[in-house]
Amino acid sequence: MRDLISVRALSALQKKKRLVKRGDEILTSKPFCFVLENSVIGQYCETCLATARKERLLSRCKGCWRAWYCSDICRDLGESQHRHECQLFRDRPDYRPRDFARFLARLIRKLKDGGEDVVERIDARRSRRFRDLMSHSKEIEKDQKRLDYLAEMMPDLQVLLGKSNIPDREELIQIFGKVHISYLDTMNSREHRRTFLQDNYYFTCDCRLCRDERHARTASSIKCRSRACGAPVHVDESGTGWVDPCGACGFCKFPRGVAYEYIEVADYTRAELADLDEDNPTGLEVWRDVAEAQGALLHPLNLWRSKSLEALVTASVNMRQWSAALAPARENEAAIRHYYGAKHPYVGLYLMKLAKIELNNMEWHPALEHLQEAEEILEAGLGSNHPLVFVDLAWLLIQASEECRVDIQRSLMYGRAQRTSSGGRSLVANRGRS
Ligand SMILES: [Zn+2]
Ligand SMILES: [Zn+2]
Ligand SMILES: [Zn+2]
Ligand SMILES: [Zn+2]
Repeated sequence: MRDLISVRALSALQKKKRLVKRGDEILTSKPFCFVLENSVIGQYCETCLATARKERLLSRCKGCWRAWYCSDICRDLGESQHRHECQLFRDRPDYRPRDFARFLARLIRKLKDGGEDVVERIDARRSRRFRDLMSHSKEIEKDQKRLDYLAEMMPDLQVLLGKSNIPDREELIQIFGKVHISYLDTMNSREHRRTFLQDNYYFTCDCRLCRDERHARTASSIKCRSRACGAPVHVDESGTGWVDPCGACGFCKFPRGVAYEYIEVADYTRAELADLDEDNPTGLEVWRDVAEAQGALLHPLNLWRSKSLEALVTASVNMRQWSAALAPARENEAAIRHYYGAKHPYVGLYLMKLAKIELNNMEWHPALEHLQEAEEILEAGLGSNHPLVFVDLAWLLIQASEECRVDIQRSLMYGRAQRTSSGGRSLVANRGRS
């Protein structure tokens, strides 16, 4: 979904030469329509998306036992959306429609029940409605894959809406095209990103990132073997055996076969990652083996290295093996910054995760520094009112600050004790664990 008006609002601001600072709000928008995915039902309030916490448990809808709310207010507010589903789920307790079909059904009902007339103000002069979104319907008509996907939703739509309430084909494709939201993960190769955008949004991307040849070449790189260099050196992944000379030091005496060794390792990593994509949660052992097979060959900014480190960290954290998570999480920090860009909210989230791992390893001071940086990035990206910032992050900050304070106090006391016993020679207080 691309919304021309928000793009126009931004360029109008720029034309007026009004400075837009990082973190400034250009446009805020409440969701027009949404559903909770089946996999997270019960974890969030159906209306306000508040999470279930110890001090605020969610309560179930007494009709269908399938929707959860944080309060009576949210239950009442969600009534109009939930009413039809509630009746249906009560009659068919084992029925599990697809998430996207349930979303489409809600949207179609909302549009019929006056949603067409809902106007959202952007500024004094501009406003928008659902119909202002781009539909790509002409392209979708020629895109068999997308049409097949829509066809897959039809049986659920018939159950959820009833045959007579389904819009005609043309209107349905219009609606479908407007809501096919999908975010592009920049943590992918240029080729992958371009194919994704071509397949989903029907254009060839020529953005600054796609034109950055050096960035693209780093994605498939090994570490330079010249002593004390370690810069990324590009290897051709198509199997020609070509290794670039090092751009930093000019080293070019890579042993024969290093490119083939690289391709073997990259293929192995790709195969394991494909399994991970198919909802097969792979265990800690697998990702340890992958990291070991990559050995010292791959550069830390190599895409395969970074993706498998991420999987290794996730697996370690899931199993609460905090010490196993620490080294890979630290190694991956540079790659996360490289692929997302310095101020991307994901970098903030990553630093938060890294800090949590550090706290569990009693690395108080680095944790505090990472949390402070995460706070700056997330406040700019999500706003200081976002629960992630003012609940989760704030809590971690309190914890890290307190641990640092105690740690410094302990070091000072230890230093004083040492001074007294060693006749006044001063000791420098250690950073980190004491
Ligand atoms: Zn709520
Ligand atoms: Zn219900
Ligand atoms: Zn691009
Ligand atoms: Zn080099």
